Formats: sequence, structure tokens, C-alpha cells
Amino acid sequence: MKILTIAEQKDNQLANISFETILAARSLGGDIMTALMAGDTAAAAGQLSAKGVKVFAFAHDTLKDFHDEAYAQILKSLIDREQPDVVIGSATFYGKAMMGRLAALCDGAMASDCTALTLDGDAVSALRPAYGGNVFYTVQNNRPGPFFVSLRPKAFLEATDEGSGEIVDENVDDTLVAVKAKVTGRVSETGGRVNLTEADIVVAAGRGIRAEENFKMIEEMAETLGAAVGASRAIVDAGWVPYLYQVGQTGKTVNPKLYFAIGISGAVQHLVGMRSSKTIVAINRDKDAPIFNIANYGVVGDLFEILPALTAKLKEVMN
Ligand SMILES: Cc1cc2nc3c(=O)[nH]c(=O)nc-3n(C[C@H](O)[C@H](O)[C@H](O)COP(=O)(O)OP(=O)(O)OC[C@H]3O[C@@H](n4cnc5c(N)ncnc54)[C@H](O)[C@@H]3O)c2cc1C
Repeated sequence: MKILTIAEQKDNQLANISFETILAARSLGGDIMTALMAGDTAAAAGQLSAKGVKVFAFAHDTLKDFHDEAYAQILKSLIDREQPDVVIGSATFYGKAMMGRLAALCDGAMASDCTALTLDGDAVSALRPAYGGNVFYTVQNNRPGPFFVSLRPKAFLEATDEGSGEIVDENVDDTLVAVKAKVTGRVSETGGRVNLTEADIVVAAGRGIRAEENFKMIEEMAETLGAAVGASRAIVDAGWVPYLYQVGQTGKTVNPKLYFAIGISGAVQHLVGMRSSKTIVAINRDKDAPIFNIANYGVVGDLFEILPALTAKLKEVMN
């Protein structure tokens, strides 16, 4: 089996998902190739080939910033040439924009936001959550040509180094990057904080924090843990925190190892975005709050008493 994974970079720095897709490919076995598109591919190609994969590196000024049209056209020409059986990309903001376009360009079948891949005989099955993570179902390719899969971040741990792969520096065909839309600028969303969708730990707050100024308690705890901050829609709508922190149906889907839900009731629209977290800790003064139905650990009490004590203890332990 030939598997093509798609690396994701920003400012020539690889996102973790670039390594997670390789691990997902490895769970199937076979020959693994990775496509890398960037302004400068030298460093990132080396990091990827250290995972033992064959890297096709496309360096071009137009590829500096994510561009779904250019990326999809380049990948289509690579897929036509290399004929992979499976193509694994990311279900990130960027991957979601590009993978559907790529599958359509290649007239292939696609399974999105998958959390596991298995091999049943010769057929690849992709496992994906639906209905807010309440059910999981498997999807198989019933068309000729490659099976396109986008992988949910953090569903696989990062791949470890497996010796040295091969790097193929590709010439970029100008017709493939002659795109209709141009990236004219970029506004950074995270402002230096830990990236919410890639974080191992998320500390999220809801309306229970009562006022905007109390969000600094959440930021302090997150900083102590090296965690990202998250929020329920209630406090985004209230204007206490920016939308980019929102977790849930109309916000981000996160999949960290540890998720703190602080003063969050656990409405289904919030759970959709975080219920696949490995461990969930809820702090809520209402013992009947629905968040406790999915929490691994629950603390019933006033967050204004618990949070300062918890942060102080964490500071002590972390130092
Ligand atoms: C179409 C649609 C899409 C939506 N999308 C999203 C989404 O993406 N993300 C999202 O989060 N929501 C979303 N919502 C909103 C969702 O339904 C809930 O209204 C929202 O999640 C509630 O936020 P909350 O838990 O912060 O607030 P509340 O439901 O008001 O809960 C506050 C909690 O804080 C607890 N609390 C209060 N004081 C304290 C204290 N001192 N100590 C400890 N606990 C305390 C309370 O017991 C309560 O459980 C959506 C709704 C709709 C209709």
C-alpha cells in the first residue's frame, strides 16, 4: 500500500499534525510519502525525513502561506504521478479548507475528521465521530482511486524519529501556482499563546466566572500548566473573551490530554467540541450540571475558592 501524508506548516514551522498523520499512516503499514509545500522547505523536509518517510518538497513563494487552490493543484499532480492508495491530511482549519477540494479534484471518496484508521483485508476503514461524538462509525472507500482522509488533531501522538528517509526537491510547475486569489496579509490569531487545537492541556471557562476580569484566573492557571485557554460560547457572546477561544459546535474542536471545564454547565453544543479529550476535569458548584456526566474527575464547589488554591498548588508542584 502507498500512503501519502500532507504536512502542514506556518512560517516554515511544521504543525504537530504533520507528524501525527505519519503515525496514522504507520498504523496501516506500507510505503509512506509526505508532501510538503512551503516558501522554504529545507528545515521542515529534514524533520519529516527523520521520521523515515520519503518527502516530496515543493518550495515556492506562492506556497509560503496556506493556499488551498495552489496546494490542491500541486497535490493533484503529485497524486496523479505517485498513485497513492490513501491520502491523509489534517482536519485543522487549513486541512478542512483543502481536503474536500483535493478529493473533488481527484474525483475520490473522502472521510473527514477521523480519529483512527484500520486495515480490514485490503480495505482501509476510517473511524469518525458523529452526532457530537455520541456515535462512531467507519467509512470505507467504494470508488476507484485514492481514499482521502482528514485526521483530527491529537488523535495520534507524534511520530518518533525512525532514521532517515529521502527528500525529493520538486520543481514547482508555474501553471499550478497561477491561482485566482492572492494572500495579501495575515493576522495572527493566537497572539503568542498556546494553540488551542494543538494543546495538550486546555483550561476553559464558562459563565460561572461571572465577569470578564475573572478570566485572568483562568489565564494564570493555564500559564502555570503551559496550557491553552478555552471558553464556552456564553462568555464569548458576552464579549469577555475573543471568539478564537470558543470550544464547541460553532467554535473549535479540541482533543487534548487534559481539559479543565471551569464554571461550564456542559451544554451539548459545548460537549461536541471537547468530549473526546482524554481526561476531563470539571469544576462546578451545581452537582447536577451535565458536565459531570462526561467528566473523569469532578469537583463540586465554588470556583472562586477552588481555582486560586488549585493554581497555587500547581505552581508549587511545577516549580
Ligand atoms: C446553534 C448553537 C450553537 C452553539 N454553539 C456553542 C459552542 O460552540 N460552544 C459553547 O460553549 N456553547 C454553544 N452554544 C451555547 C450552549 O447551548 C450554552 O448556552 C453554553 O455552552 C453555556 O455556556 P456556559 O456553560 O458557560 O454557561 P451556563 O450554561 O450559564 O453555565 C454556567 C455554569 O457555571 C456554574 N457556576 C456558576 N457559578 C459558579 C461558581 N461560583 N463556581 C462553580 N461553578 C459555577 C453553574 O452551575 C453553571 O453550570 C450554542 C448554542 C446554539 C443554540
